[in-house]
Amino acid sequence: MRVLIDSGSGCCNGVGRAISTAEHYLAEHGELFSLGAIVHNDAEIQRLSELGLRTVGYDGLPSLRGATVLIRAHGEPPSTYALAREAGVSLIDCTCPVVLALQRKIAAEYSGLSARGGTVLIFGKRGHAEVNGLVGQTDGHAVVVESMADLEEKLRTGVIDPSRPLALFSQTTKDPEEFAALADRLRQDAGNLEIFNTICRHVSSRHKALKEFASACSVIIFVCGRESSNGKVLFELCRSVNPRSYKVESADELPDGIFRPDDTAGICGATSTTRWQLEKVAEAISRL
Ligand code: SF4
Repeated sequence: MRVLIDSGSGCCNGVGRAISTAEHYLAEHGELFSLGAIVHNDAEIQRLSELGLRTVGYDGLPSLRGATVLIRAHGEPPSTYALAREAGVSLIDCTCPVVLALQRKIAAEYSGLSARGGTVLIFGKRGHAEVNGLVGQTDGHAVVVESMADLEEKLRTGVIDPSRPLALFSQTTKDPEEFAALADRLRQDAGNLEIFNTICRHVSSRHKALKEFASACSVIIFVCGRESSNGKVLFELCRSVNPRSYKVESADELPDGIFRPDDTAGICGATSTTRWQLEKVAEAISRL
């Protein structure tokens, strides 16, 4: 059996930058707090926790006066920075530059739109950390659209009024085809619509390349954390072109009896999956 690791898989720049910033800080200071999980990937969190990284929630901030807290690549709403100031913690801000630019774009668009009675729409997962950070740029007024069915419901019930100015943005890790379909649907009804395709280039280029990789292999092992929303999207993409696609968090979860001697097994992962995890799974398969 041949085992291939997808050359485009591994952490994206934003997540990789947050992890290496944490590693450097920990090497010097031995302890660092991350506001929320630094990456949706339990194995990597375990590795970093052994180096001294502690994950805290918003309610944990007041008890950390004087400590240093990392803001992860997903970014945070303005209210978090106010909370941190009040709590007296120092921040290491690892918001991905792409997310930061998107936050600023949404804030600027919102200030113009709200004066004209318009609405900012964000295609994304409600409650996801990045989406919370984006909604926070509009004082909580942006409307999050999760899917086509959700959009139809919001148009039907008047939550989205197409007679008013609208601006559509996307969470950086969403599916480009779904975003295009939502934009097309809105164009049918909206008279004044601006569309900002803000899907990260790293993600959109991955879609095409990953589809090609998954089609070229006879079996796909997709490695990602259970909580990774980008992992769910990319795994479904693999499965759409290769029905023999399996999602695992680590080599321990490889299902029995899925490989054949003449298989080409392709190993790939989400934007939060590290190279070392892909390599470990590849090694385990090579030993079978
Ligand atoms: S997917 Fe893109 S925008 Fe999101 S953290 Fe990674 S590099 Fe940044």
